[in-house]
Amino acid sequence: MPPLPLQFVTSAGNVRDLPDSPAEVAVVGRSNVGKSSLINAVSGRNDLARVSKTPGRTRLLNCFEVPGGATVVDCPGYGYAEASKSTRAALAKMTERYLLEREQLAMLLVLVDGEIGPTRLDLDILDWVRENELPHTIVATKHDKVKSSHRPRRVKEVAAACRLDPGDIVWVSAAKGTGIERLRGLLAMWLAAPA
Ligand code: GDP
Repeated sequence: MPPLPLQFVTSAGNVRDLPDSPAEVAVVGRSNVGKSSLINAVSGRNDLARVSKTPGRTRLLNCFEVPGGATVVDCPGYGYAEASKSTRAALAKMTERYLLEREQLAMLLVLVDGEIGPTRLDLDILDWVRENELPHTIVATKHDKVKSSHRPRRVKEVAAACRLDPGDIVWVSAAKGTGIERLRGLLAMWLAAPA
């Protein structure tokens, strides 16, 4: 599967400002999980996701499109809920609204760091995604950072922590290219399907 020809379109502060799109895949993850590296890897470019790290854009929905107009939206990294003294992990309110309102959302990729496994924050976000019945796929990043002798066990551990079967999780390494072709194929399929 060749690289997905993603082009940056816009950074939006709310759903209204996003372009029309026949189908959309959104990506969420804690900062440092490898989200930018992954977007670069699927697009075959080294600099594409740099825009998402530009000061002023880190809290926006950064939108990339493929020819035909389907879109990939890089959502802000998440942290602990700001309101009250909650220790529950929370997406920014704007991201939550976007995910709940966007009719074109065909798939949400929830990234977890494959080396360290899902954190409490990741699992809170996953609970929220499940409660709201959003279509989602878990992508475990940094496969190359897991020692090869530990991999079979690690794959089972990450799946168990997420309450999934090992085969339901897409493992990738942006650094080594592992799983990237498969993910490109999945993205092409989701982006082709009207939600
Ligand atoms: P983001 O904050 O989620 O966008 O994460 P980045 O893509 O900036 O990656 C965070 C750090 O993890 C950087 O130092 C990357 O070089 C590193 N990283 C990302 N993906 C991989 C990977 O597949 N393998 C390895 N070894 N490091 C990675």
